[in-house]
Amino acid sequence: MSSLKTDRSRRELARAKTLFPGGVNSPVRAFRGVIGDPPFIARGEKARLYDEDGNGYIDYVLSWGPLLAGHAHPAILKAIGEAAALGTSFGAPTARESVLAEKVRALVPSMRKLRFVNSGTEATQSALRVARGFTGRERVVKFEGCFHGATDALLVRAGSGVETLGLPDSPGVPGALAALTTVLPYNDAVAVREYFRGPQGRDTAAAIVEPVVGNMGVLVPRPGFLEAVQEETCKAGALFICDEVMTGFRVARGGAQERFGLEPDLTCLGKVIGGGLPVGAYGGREDVMSQVAPEGPIYQAGTLSGNPLAMAGGIAMLDLVAQPGFTETVERRTEELCGRLREELKRAGVAAQVNQIGSMWTCFFARDEVYDYPTAKKADTGRFARVHRGLLERGVYLPPSQFEAAFLSSEHGAQEIEATVTAFRAAIAA
Ligand SMILES: *Cc1c(COP(=O)(O)O)cnc(C)c1O
Repeated sequence: MSSLKTDRSRRELARAKTLFPGGVNSPVRAFRGVIGDPPFIARGEKARLYDEDGNGYIDYVLSWGPLLAGHAHPAILKAIGEAAALGTSFGAPTARESVLAEKVRALVPSMRKLRFVNSGTEATQSALRVARGFTGRERVVKFEGCFHGATDALLVRAGSGVETLGLPDSPGVPGALAALTTVLPYNDAVAVREYFRGPQGRDTAAAIVEPVVGNMGVLVPRPGFLEAVQEETCKAGALFICDEVMTGFRVARGGAQERFGLEPDLTCLGKVIGGGLPVGAYGGREDVMSQVAPEGPIYQAGTLSGNPLAMAGGIAMLDLVAQPGFTETVERRTEELCGRLREELKRAGVAAQVNQIGSMWTCFFARDEVYDYPTAKKADTGRFARVHRGLLERGVYLPPSQFEAAFLSSEHGAQEIEATVTAFRAAIAA
């Protein structure tokens, strides 16, 4: 077993801890759900990450999803470089914004009109405001374990880092705001129908859902669940918001809504849409989006929104996504990897469920099928932590939590898959 060199990362962590809470600028990066300290990253190249001590890893985190084309893709770097040479931000309209918006709409046609923001959190927060403003209602529905960014109204039973750290509800979220959020079980069409046909249905502005969940680890929707959310919100006069910040361009070229034939009123995008730069977007029905300022009265704004560097990164990324076979190839390799991992688990007699769809996957150390929050919570997080450590020491970088999705990029090929399977075999045997 190759032992990792950690001198420099350890020094950097000590320094960072004097500067940032937990030494990090986003909680899950701190490795609290696994064994050991986080390596500090120096650079990335294609499917690989290299840390400050020179250790190399096959990367299945990919900046938590955005890097569908791997690290430092030449086409994306070239586009960003060309844009940067002309100035980094203008706070004025530019043609690049329309170029990216047209590419988004070509892939996700339900987004008739949209607005760019700087993160997924901003996208979901803005979509909620628009839904509330449009319907004149205040109550919103979310699903247990779904994460929609660190937005106050949605930081209730929110999966992801919240789950890793065992913080079911965050202090600092006003009780009055949390009280307007109803949490329903994911994958439970009956609960959706009961709620929307009950007294609160008519007071509800929107239901927001991760169509495929990534933030409890990957959970796939059961037939009829998303259709029930779409149907019942429509009948109750509420909006159906698809949070495709993670699934966009990954579960299919046009996201989960293409794969499952959905027609959401509003969609939120992030992650892949910026090609590794900070971009989010929300958009949908023309009559709804026309209520946003300055066309309508619902206010939302951003100093750096639509800035040229971010737009250039997004344009180059979506040009790759639009290439015939691009997303299909990444999906096929993800299927192959997950199939091989299932074989290894079976051979070793380890109880586990490898959930996969598109280029997203999670290996849950659980005996039974994992399809919602309670079944995900049954996973053996201690075993996950040991396997995570074993893989890290063998040059494979998985998300540092049982409750986070792993990803592939177009740069993960046969060689990376082979090396990962070999490392996995050793890690589950250890
Ligand atoms: C990551 C994520 C967000 C938040 O996006 P940020 O860019 O981190 O603010 C929102 N919703 C989903 C489904 C996500 O996976």
